[in-house]
Amino acid sequence: MNTTAPMIEIAAVNKWYGAGFQVLKNCSLSVRRGEVVVVCGPSGSGKSTLIKCVNGLEPVNDGTIKVDGAAVTDPSTKLPSLRAKVGMVFQHFELFPHMNVLENLCIGQEKVLKRGASEARAKAQALLERVGMTAHSHKYPGQLSGGQQQRIAIARALAMDPIAMLFDEPTSALDPEMITEVLDVMVSLAQEGMTMMVVTHEMGFARKVADRVVFMDRGEIVEDTQKQRFFEDPQSDRAKLFLSKIL
Ligand code: ADP
Ligand code: MG
Repeated sequence: MNTTAPMIEIAAVNKWYGAGFQVLKNCSLSVRRGEVVVVCGPSGSGKSTLIKCVNGLEPVNDGTIKVDGAAVTDPSTKLPSLRAKVGMVFQHFELFPHMNVLENLCIGQEKVLKRGASEARAKAQALLERVGMTAHSHKYPGQLSGGQQQRIAIARALAMDPIAMLFDEPTSALDPEMITEVLDVMVSLAQEGMTMMVVTHEMGFARKVADRVVFMDRGEIVEDTQKQRFFEDPQSDRAKLFLSKIL
């Protein structure tokens, strides 16, 4: 393992949906080990597409993406094993509805990582404690609030011992009173040194733990700056306009 290379390296990526619509335009971005990068920008600017390209859920047309040195964009890279190493949490919680919480946390460990049942269960219980959900281990997703489901989704991703975590607007579908409980879990992950790429408009989160803020608009990375600079002195008119709307 090369510890000085970026954990996530996106270089000159272009992507089209169909022939006529270019969704990503010459995007380059790197996330070093232990770094937290917040990606923001108007709806439709390509944030979800970019983050999905990082673990190969969407193909790129040209450019390269490497995760921990392995080229996601190289056809010979085994995407399932890469995805097992990069945790992803979406806006909608996407737990397995027919499995209880404990089963949701064990299935990937057992099927993908081939952990034994008791080891998987011990790991799951430790993570449930960490996200404050120990009392709910036998409930089904449908019996939980959105905030609780999202904390389980994070715990499920962590059960795979990811080398990095990708978040795509993890709190934007939640009622306001549940946002904090999810952000608190994310803040503690960041503070423990997890490498994170987080699409969010929660600028409180960005101010607290982001190392850098990336601003996207119309498929382009318009700014990639230290967070303080982004908030205090955004360089582009597009970022100024965006900040004036959300702050
Ligand atoms: P964001 O997450 O910033 O809102 P997205 O990456 O979801 O942006 O979408 C960027 C643009 O690509 C939008 O115009 C969206 O409508 C379009 N788009 C997203 N997914 C697809 C798809 N699978 N096929 C065609 N167009 C898509
Ligand atoms: Mg999106």
